Amino acid sequence: MKTLKIAAIPGDGIGKEVVPAAIDVLNTVSDIHGGLTFDFTSFPWSCEYYLEHNKMMPDDGMERLQDFDSIFLGAVGDSNLVPDHISLWGLLIKIRREFDQVINIRPAKVMSGVRSPFINPKDFDIVVVRENSEGEYSAIGGNIYNGEDELAIQNAVFSRKGTERVMRYAFELAAKRKKHVTSATKSNGITYSMPFWDKIFKEIAKEYPEISTDSQHIDALSAFFVTRPERFDVIVASNLFGDILSDLGAAIMGNIGIAPSANINVNGKYPSMFEPVHGSAPDIVGKGIANPIGQIWTAKMMLDHFGEEDLGNTLLTVIESVTNDGILTPDLGGKHSTKEVTNEIIKRLIAVD
Ligand code: ATP
Ligand code: MG
Repeated sequence: MKTLKIAAIPGDGIGKEVVPAAIDVLNTVSDIHGGLTFDFTSFPWSCEYYLEHNKMMPDDGMERLQDFDSIFLGAVGDSNLVPDHISLWGLLIKIRREFDQVINIRPAKVMSGVRSPFINPKDFDIVVVRENSEGEYSAIGGNIYNGEDELAIQNAVFSRKGTERVMRYAFELAAKRKKHVTSATKSNGITYSMPFWDKIFKEIAKEYPEISTDSQHIDALSAFFVTRPERFDVIVASNLFGDILSDLGAAIMGNIGIAPSANINVNGKYPSMFEPVHGSAPDIVGKGIANPIGQIWTAKMMLDHFGEEDLGNTLLTVIESVTNDGILTPDLGGKHSTKEVTNEIIKRLIAVD
């Protein structure tokens, strides 16, 4: 019997509605599996918690999270209560940084029954693997006045360690999928960091002879990402390029409410964190109509992370059968509630068994 200790942080707004829904689904997964159980501990850390305690989490919050196998987060932030920079840096970004969650993963695929902005969406299934700790988002640089003009200088930092790490992760992932990795580069315009990125990509590719590769400049890649998404399997990208491609991924799926993500601690020293792409959606909170699929698909990513890919794939197939049959929340053009969609997923999961 395998027991996974999960720290659940529903957070703000619809996080409090979709996290319990996804926990019900995970408990059903555990029931049908038999050998796997989840031990959830819920933490109320949120903007409401901040109003009471003047902090987003208690002083020993990180220590308390450290012993969990993973963190399952809803949404953080409600700018009506607490400024975003306080809530995000006090909880979400704090966890990502202090737990060395250096890689961000975001899948994007066609879901049957979900309208994509394409008239005729092809059957794409992509994962963007984004370096999340260095690159273009470094704090190195400065503002200078050179006597004639004002200058702003921003340095990008690419370490061999960080670059190899994200590329290996991408190749390992591709080995379990369609066995292709595309590198997002721009070495025709960026003359130090991107040729270095290309060099390391070639080196790591040699370690994986069974995986095919290509390298595309980010401008052309972005265009293909929208016009020919079926060409891609795994895309490995730097912090900035990965950031942009990730949002593009949610856009071509047609809806932010279904998009999942994971923040991975690669060395296993700290827990990884799984969270949907959407925010707290204050405009629909309390109405019972939040789309639970982003959070439930996020649960699938957590199953994959624990090596339970078969269960994860079963869950995704069930989610897709529900969307395909038009059992949808209003954001997807349907009339169903969070509970109805969740219960349908649970019902079909039990029927699979
Ligand atoms: P933030 O500033 O926290 O990023 P935001 O408003 O930009 O907030 P979201 O909270 O993700 O981003 O909301 C964007 C829009 O998408 C809102 O209209 C919201 O209602 C909708 N939305 C987001 N997630 C869902 C969901 N799970 N189900 C239904 N609608 C959603
Ligand atoms: Mg939000």
